[in-house]
Amino acid sequence: MLKSNRKTLAVIGAGPKGIATAVKAKVLEEFGLPVDQVILIEKHTVAANWSGEFGYTNGEMKLGTSPEKDVVFPMEIDVADKILNERIKQRLMHFTWMSYLVQTNRFSDWVDRGRPAPCHISWTNYLRWVSAQLLPQIFIVSAEVLKIDLNATKDKWELKLVQTDGNADHYTLQADRLMLTGPGQTRMDFLNGQPIPEKTYDLESFWAALKDKTFQSRGRLAIVGAGENAASALLALSQYAPNMRVDIISPKGFISTRAESYYENQMYSQPERNDWDKLQVKDRIDFIERTDLGAFFNSCDEYFE
Ligand SMILES: Cc1cc2nc3c(=O)[nH]c(=O)nc-3n(C[C@H](O)[C@H](O)[C@H](O)COP(=O)(O)OP(=O)(O)OC[C@H]3O[C@@H](n4cnc5c(N)ncnc54)[C@H](O)[C@@H]3O)c2cc1C
Repeated sequence: MLKSNRKTLAVIGAGPKGIATAVKAKVLEEFGLPVDQVILIEKHTVAANWSGEFGYTNGEMKLGTSPEKDVVFPMEIDVADKILNERIKQRLMHFTWMSYLVQTNRFSDWVDRGRPAPCHISWTNYLRWVSAQLLPQIFIVSAEVLKIDLNATKDKWELKLVQTDGNADHYTLQADRLMLTGPGQTRMDFLNGQPIPEKTYDLESFWAALKDKTFQSRGRLAIVGAGENAASALLALSQYAPNMRVDIISPKGFISTRAESYYENQMYSQPERNDWDKLQVKDRIDFIERTDLGAFFNSCDEYFE
């Protein structure tokens, strides 16, 4: 399956990060530039965490960041050849949010509505539209990564996988490089390993219960944590369980979500121009911890689909 003379990059998760990485690898390969063979490993479906099917949202919340920050943003390419740079940028333009709207005949409607933030399900459809164009350069494997390790000679990653597209075969995949994506599982350290008590939700089961309408929408609820997930849950509860009393428990005493300020944004878009590499590691960690939170906004009042 794999071309043996190339390095492989295994990406765990086919969300925005995995897709963004894959698109760039695809385009660089199209132009004959040396690039790793990218393998996306996804246990559910592409953009699972945005679709409303697998937790983290019900799909109806609005994207917090602007959709122009799509999987090819910020398109600052530098391959030291001006003409090649231009051609690569032109090719990357095919995978923008704007291109998706144009190709699916939604562009004028979106503009006429005042370029609203799309809801998560619309963003899911955009990501799936991009992912459908990744072949033949990129492989998408339907499997859950159960364990990661180094091989005996410690020069390759060994991933233990279980197939999720029908038969549950177990197998091992080797890769030269590894990228982890996604938020990881909800941490409940305070349970000290005890099973989750009754009437307690983690993020995935909370959104699933809202979706299935099995969520008890009366009484009093405590949310532990005060980041963007707490904010999103609170927003959804205000709509689906307006009579519920909700207490947010956090040592911070306030809900903190990302601010999308110019300074924060350009640090992501143009890190080299903002001396990112000159910041101390501690300051970089502080910055990332504060700003890799999702921004949260209202739920969708209109649909593209
Ligand atoms: C409610 C909410 C709203 C947000 N809104 C925004 C926003 O508006 N803008 C923004 O920039 N960011 C937002 N974020 C933050 C968002 O999580 C990050 O942007 C993140 O980078 C999303 O991309 P990702 O590909 O890393 O993760 P994800 O989209 O979460 O993808 C991870 C993928 O990995 C798969 N996976 C997980 N474990 C395994 C495994 N063991 N084996 C195989 N596959 C696995 C999952 O199924 C999933 O598809 C939001 C987050 C939340 C929770």
